[in-house]
Amino acid sequence: MPVALVTGSTSGIGAAIAHRLSREGYEVVLHSRSSVEAGQAMARDLPAARYIQADLSLEEQRRSLVEQTLRECGRIDLLVNNAGISEVIAHNDLLAATPEIWQRMHEVNVVAPFRLVAHARAALEACAKLRGRPACVINISSHAGVRPKGASIPYSAGKAALNHMTRLLALSLAPDIRVNAVAPGLVETPLTESWATARALWTEKSPMRRGAQPQDIAQVVALLADSDYLTGEVIVSDGGLNLT
Ligand code: NAD
Repeated sequence: MPVALVTGSTSGIGAAIAHRLSREGYEVVLHSRSSVEAGQAMARDLPAARYIQADLSLEEQRRSLVEQTLRECGRIDLLVNNAGISEVIAHNDLLAATPEIWQRMHEVNVVAPFRLVAHARAALEACAKLRGRPACVINISSHAGVRPKGASIPYSAGKAALNHMTRLLALSLAPDIRVNAVAPGLVETPLTESWATARALWTEKSPMRRGAQPQDIAQVVALLADSDYLTGEVIVSDGGLNLT
């Protein structure tokens, strides 16, 4: 059974990705920073799943997340870098975007996905050889990393870095590992519950007239995971808002 490690998967987009990949026949490793009980309950509900807790702002815990996955499952076919943090800061309030906020977001949204790929690389390559098809990394970035928008400048700049890292890794790790990204617009999750202005924008202005449900993003992840050919792509999934 192929194994998928999905970071930040006890809520929101990550939970939908975990459910979808489970339906696609993956053994899923659920992960979060702190919601241990929710993670263990989800693991019991899915046919083949387990939960591992790790704070991805810490290098030692990034390494141990990969090591524990390999100890318990023996392989990693698919790594979904979904965990991320955000904070709303007006773009023109430059002093509010402090160095501490820049560093905290960069560590979780940019450095952690890169280091998880680094720690999982040998296992992903081994899987590719075993199955005779490339292993896969999927980064969840944001349309804010493509367009000059988003909750804050540190968040959007970090997601732009993640998109570029996706292309750089796709080149470096081919042909054994494909690396792609999904760049959602507004998705209805706990993170965006209070984002009334963004919700109004999507309802009124986007061609699809709504924000995404987490399942819409999980569908794109399943498509990318299923391909043996796509690599280095950043798939903007924003209901067409970028066209307006
Ligand atoms: P969420 O808050 O529901 O989930 C975020 C997950 O990240 C949680 O499981 C949390 O445990 C994990 N996480 C946060 N900090 C962590 C840390 N230090 N260590 C380990 N895990 C940590 O958010 P969501 O809306 O489902 O977002 C998931 C991803 O999608 C994020 O990368 C986010 O930037 C991206 N995204 C979300 C939207 C949206 O509108 N919701 C839009 C574009 C991109």
